[in-house]
Amino acid sequence: MPRITGFETHDVRFPTSLTGDGSDAMNTDTDYSAAYITLFTDTNLVGHGMTFTNGRGNDIVCMAIKEVANRLVGKDTEELFADMGKAWDHLTADAQLRWIGPEKGIIHIATGAVDNALWDMYARARRKPLWKLIVDMTPEEVIRSTSFRYITDAITKEEALSMLKAKEAGKQEREATVRQLGYPAYVTSAGWLGYSDEKVARLTKEAVAAGFTHFKMKVGVDVADDLRRGNLIRSIIDDPQFLPLGMKPRDPHSEDLRGKNAGPTGAVLMIDANQVWDVSQAIDYVYNLKEIKPWFIEEPTAPDDILGHAAVRKALKPHGIGVATGEHAHNRIIFKQLLQANAIDVCQIDSCRLAGVSEVLSVLLMSAKFGVPVCPHAGGVGLCEYVIHLSLIDYIAISGTMERNVLEYVDHLHEHFVTPCSINENGRYNVPSNPDEGYSIEMHESSIAEYEWPNGSYWAGRRAQEV
Ligand SMILES: [Mg+2]
Repeated sequence: MPRITGFETHDVRFPTSLTGDGSDAMNTDTDYSAAYITLFTDTNLVGHGMTFTNGRGNDIVCMAIKEVANRLVGKDTEELFADMGKAWDHLTADAQLRWIGPEKGIIHIATGAVDNALWDMYARARRKPLWKLIVDMTPEEVIRSTSFRYITDAITKEEALSMLKAKEAGKQEREATVRQLGYPAYVTSAGWLGYSDEKVARLTKEAVAAGFTHFKMKVGVDVADDLRRGNLIRSIIDDPQFLPLGMKPRDPHSEDLRGKNAGPTGAVLMIDANQVWDVSQAIDYVYNLKEIKPWFIEEPTAPDDILGHAAVRKALKPHGIGVATGEHAHNRIIFKQLLQANAIDVCQIDSCRLAGVSEVLSVLLMSAKFGVPVCPHAGGVGLCEYVIHLSLIDYIAISGTMERNVLEYVDHLHEHFVTPCSINENGRYNVPSNPDEGYSIEMHESSIAEYEWPNGSYWAGRRAQEV
């Protein structure tokens, strides 16, 4: 049986701050970065994982990854794979490291990178993409792979097991459906705050032409500016002349679009403030944007403020605007409380802020129980590659629904991955199908050599120019 013999980490940073990609009300000059790990065994079997950061501090996360990954060295891989929930508990149970969390902040996102690398290794060992590994598990195996500690007041193992069993019969049919249609996606790339109106208009037209029906823009610096950009985007997405040839407008009153404030062509607009407001500011500001008819406001306030999100949701509900959050919800307990407090209309899990697949499964199960759709956070670097797997698991094995869901898609940095995600002609994610791609997060060695901080060829070259 293979044993884990060691690992290497890489601090990989991409200079996205030069172009305004990823700019929003809170994050103005970010360099999308990956704190990356490869686990090695005494055979050819490896596992790749990463967590995402915005640049500075990525080296600190790499240091934390080393501390967490050390806990796997010497372990028998098959023993780990046989009980991934127990493996997750082991990763989070170091009595000394726990003090610098627990289960939040740097140590937790580092655990996410390591747990994801272990799941990647497990999928590679079975020669299945990660999503397929999990949807092919029995309900009992899924439960064993899930982190349940601290959430059993919201969902017990027995309840989760009966939910999974109830979805067993339809799994094959749903898998065939999504392989054929692809998974619904939405586009954020058009609406970064740092872009000019001309660039926003051009990118929005391109996104409509590519088949997208859901669009997100960043808001929160200036109401008049946001209204102008929102109306600009609406003027394009609501106009049938920009639809791709042969595509008919969607019925805005259909079940798939219920409650989404869809325009006449069935297009949906979402807005994202990236935590910039206090609670009452959020309510006032979003009220002033109601003419652009957003489906939801994402991250209206501090990500830990569960009751604040509930207050924003209650105040905006009469105006038909929902609340979404999750990309900074640091563990399953925050999600549990967001659901228990009726604070969100949409659950936006993050694949590597949560500590890997085992914790993601617990949030997928809770969201299904509470009837809240999961629309994962993506973008950054590597996040789109990861999250298509999670949405497929949600649809095929857990919630059983996808047409009301949409998965974020941002068209940046995919070229650095060996098996990048892709979008079909109807603006939907293709299903990863290479049996050797694991969790789809393996980065090209050449990309690591070029963008590793501080001595990769790109960064060394830039320093040489600045001298
Ligand atoms: Mg966001």
